[in-house]
Amino acid sequence: MLEAIADLRSSLRAISSDLIVRMGQPEVVIPQLAHQFQLDRLFYHQEVTAEELAVEAALTQALATLPITIQATWGHTLHHPDQLPWSIQQLPELFTQFRKDVEGRSEISAPLPRPDRLPPLTEGIEPGQLPNLVDLGLTSPSPSPRSQITFTGGETAGLQRLQDYIWTNDRLRIYKETRNGMLHPNDSSKLSPWLAIGCLSARQIHAEVQSYEQQVTRNDSTYWLIFELLWRDYFRWIAAKHGNRIFRVSGLQGLTLPWFQHWEQFEQWRTGQTGYPLVDANMRELQETGFMSNRGRQNVASFLTKNLGIDWRMGAEWFESCLIDYDVCSNWGNWNYTAGVGNDARGFRFFNILKQAQDYDPQGDYVKHWLPELAQIPAAKVHAPWKLLPIEQVRSGLQLDRDYPRPIVDLFESAAANEARYNRAAGLQPRSQRRDRPQRPQRPRR
Ligand SMILES: Cc1cc2nc3c(=O)[nH]c(=O)nc-3n(C[C@H](O)[C@H](O)[C@H](O)COP(=O)(O)OP(=O)(O)OC[C@H]3O[C@@H](n4cnc5c(N)ncnc54)[C@H](O)[C@@H]3O)c2cc1C
Repeated sequence: MLEAIADLRSSLRAISSDLIVRMGQPEVVIPQLAHQFQLDRLFYHQEVTAEELAVEAALTQALATLPITIQATWGHTLHHPDQLPWSIQQLPELFTQFRKDVEGRSEISAPLPRPDRLPPLTEGIEPGQLPNLVDLGLTSPSPSPRSQITFTGGETAGLQRLQDYIWTNDRLRIYKETRNGMLHPNDSSKLSPWLAIGCLSARQIHAEVQSYEQQVTRNDSTYWLIFELLWRDYFRWIAAKHGNRIFRVSGLQGLTLPWFQHWEQFEQWRTGQTGYPLVDANMRELQETGFMSNRGRQNVASFLTKNLGIDWRMGAEWFESCLIDYDVCSNWGNWNYTAGVGNDARGFRFFNILKQAQDYDPQGDYVKHWLPELAQIPAAKVHAPWKLLPIEQVRSGLQLDRDYPRPIVDLFESAAANEARYNRAAGLQPRSQRRDRPQRPQRPRR
């Protein structure tokens, strides 16, 4: 964020304007500035969730006695609320319906052009110093030596990433086939950190994709990047429609489930010590870098909620405190969804971590990268190190329990127990009596 603010200031200075920087509560600092310099208009970017709305309300109230016009602008999503085919209160509850409606009935506007010049600051206004981490009571994070990508804050770096991903490295062409990869910087776009704090807009990405489609090619991958941005929009509209329900334990469905607050297992999950390499590698990547792939997020969230049965809000809060792309709507919306309390009607669905590992990391390159203790284990057992025979442990330099934990729960027994609890609470029949019963995956042998 500090890098983003510094970049914004230098962009404004390049067009002969400036950015005023102050530290304090918006509802205190902005009215002071408005009063001191007799400002007559205030623009702000409208948000949808409770804490941000409280700031907006407090600011409006604090400015009430001043002759100032307040204008909220909307900018996060591909569509403006006025371009939606229904009012936000009538937003469809299911993503597919939402997507079909907006694809069929709404236009996405082009981004507004960048201004060439802006007015200079009013005479006498002190622009103010940018704070550093120490001023904010923080210490410098030490970059992880294992990190595969360096995220630099700011619009300049965001635009560069867009340019590199789409044009220089020509990765948009194969986005759909590579987006589930977890290891390489170009597996997916990695645009989320810039989107999350407004350094890039979804419309800028949409415009760039259109330009690529016109100049190079249009295929499933070019469509799919916009499809994913629609998920991002959808969670924002859902938050606007449902307000604080996205934060409640019972979620959008209002489903009261008997979640555990099992702190020891939560700690094992949080620190990447569950004994399931796919989960552990992803959790260690998150802790060391603030980023995790979408595939990883889905798996670790499923493991926490469907295998450990732990209160999904504990996971959402941990993500909130780590993610450099933290977005209140995407995070809490996705956690609702993965925990089975969101607005997908598919009941208890869990990720089979072992199958996911085989599908998305068949050679174990990803888990070996983040869990160096597994480096010498052959691909056949790298996702199930508990199967290593004593002689194999000697050969691969890994002693179970000492160097790497055994699984903290049995994958399928734990999922079955949590599914039964879920079904009881949701008033559903056990899966064995349901006609849509999916095939049971093979249990791992210890
Ligand atoms: C439990 C959980 C928590 C999440 N928390 C966040 C969060 O706090 N902030 C955040 O930006 N994303 C979140 N996501 C969504 C997704 O994981 C990230 O947007 C994605 O991994 C970012 O990497 P990328 O930019 O390379 O994605 P790409 O695959 O390149 O996708 C392009 C863009 O589409 C959007 N997008 C893709 N998938 C999703 C999705 N499932 N939901 C919403 N938007 C999506 C993002 O803006 C992303 O940058 C979460 C997903 C899960 C399962």
